[in-house]
Amino acid sequence: MEEQDEKKFVKDICRRDVDFSQWYIDVIRKAELADYAPVRGCMVIRPYGYAIWELLRDALDERIKATGHENAYFPLLIPESFLAKEAEHTEGFTPQVAWVTQGGTEVLEERLALRPTSEAIICQMYAKWIRSWRDLPVLINQWANIVRWEKVTRLFLRTTEFLWQEGHTAHRTDDEAREEALKILELYGDFMNEILAIPVYKGVKTDRERFPGALQTYTVEALMPDGRALQTGTSHNLGQHFAKVFDITYLEEDNKLHYVWQTSWGVTTRLIGALIMVHGDDAGLKLPPRVAPVQAVVVPITFEKTKEDVLAKAHALADELEVAGLRAKLDDRDEYKPGWKFNEWELRGAPLRLELGPKDVEKGVVTAVRRDTREKTAVPRDKIAAWAKDTLEAIQGDMLAAASAYLKENTKTVDNHDDFYLLFEGRPGFVRAPWCGETPCEDQIADETGATIRFIPLEPEDARGKDCAGCGGKAKVWAYFAKAY
Ligand SMILES: [Zn+2]
Repeated sequence: MEEQDEKKFVKDICRRDVDFSQWYIDVIRKAELADYAPVRGCMVIRPYGYAIWELLRDALDERIKATGHENAYFPLLIPESFLAKEAEHTEGFTPQVAWVTQGGTEVLEERLALRPTSEAIICQMYAKWIRSWRDLPVLINQWANIVRWEKVTRLFLRTTEFLWQEGHTAHRTDDEAREEALKILELYGDFMNEILAIPVYKGVKTDRERFPGALQTYTVEALMPDGRALQTGTSHNLGQHFAKVFDITYLEEDNKLHYVWQTSWGVTTRLIGALIMVHGDDAGLKLPPRVAPVQAVVVPITFEKTKEDVLAKAHALADELEVAGLRAKLDDRDEYKPGWKFNEWELRGAPLRLELGPKDVEKGVVTAVRRDTREKTAVPRDKIAAWAKDTLEAIQGDMLAAASAYLKENTKTVDNHDDFYLLFEGRPGFVRAPWCGETPCEDQIADETGATIRFIPLEPEDARGKDCAGCGGKAKVWAYFAKAY
């Protein structure tokens, strides 16, 4: 009976090499991370998925605050006239904006947008609040929901409504704004490395991929196991575009009015999609310990005679781990056999499984199994808390190392048109190639191969003397191309 259940369990998740997209959806639904909502393109984040979001959010929030930023909250509704002020910004977002046209029974005089991003409303307020150089810099972050009317949606990666944080800062100088945008890029990269165990590339977007209204968009890019890149965060140097249209001025020490320099930056619930894809395997989710809602699950193995004793000891074990600061859980559900629970917690990605049966009790050990390597260890009962703590740290590091090796293996360099086009008949991951710097060439590459320039390194690598991998013209810089989500 037990064996049958286990088979059924695994059968319900599509294998990754058979259909990666199906595997992704199966894991999300079977692990109860999220579900489709009645409104097309919207998703319900279920408690287990939301617990991951909370851990991730709290870890990032701590870092945002540690660098001097404060949280605030701005309204969801933005008057159309505000949104229309910055032309490029408006054009960029118009196709995705959802509108409120009626309040109760009354048709509104001015349509209200459900925020597709908050520059328009925040700049309006900054124009009011910022008076003198003494008010600067303004370093505000907001945790909020966003609505973008997407045509094609995918759970966590692209949904009509999603959660994010958006930082909006105002500065006295161009340099200060650029430093801020780069500081945040660094912060995002470290956060993804250290907390999510996801290695990323950092770079700058080309004009084609720039945020509408920004001077420069910096990006962090990760690689998924199907060879597609995923943009996991962006940081924009907005220059004075928004300051000029929203009239955000301040009195400088020279007694003259100056426009402020601004940045904005954000990461979204998409990071959960990245976590699922980067670390998961055919058995399901594999969570890095720092964002695992359950870091160690205790599964008692009970038999009629010894049940009471084993259960009591399993309870004590879970309690002890919690006291030691671990997120531990006792799975004492009576209606499921241990084999079922093993599979379920593998699917849900708990980094450590601790089995406790009568034989373990007799020998004074706990049988511990790592989710990432499936390595089984008999750990002396009196050493378990310290062992679990150390092992969780090791798992966190090993998961980052594994993902980093994959990223390295799947970043290739080519220096000619033919090899470049040949590679993109498949999904080669990141391809570093010489590029001429021209947008029409970039457009053509995208049309013909489906690949886009994900970023140019922050320290541009000179490619003069090479031919552009796209048009064959004179190359300027090395660019990183990929097919992307
Ligand atoms: Zn070219």
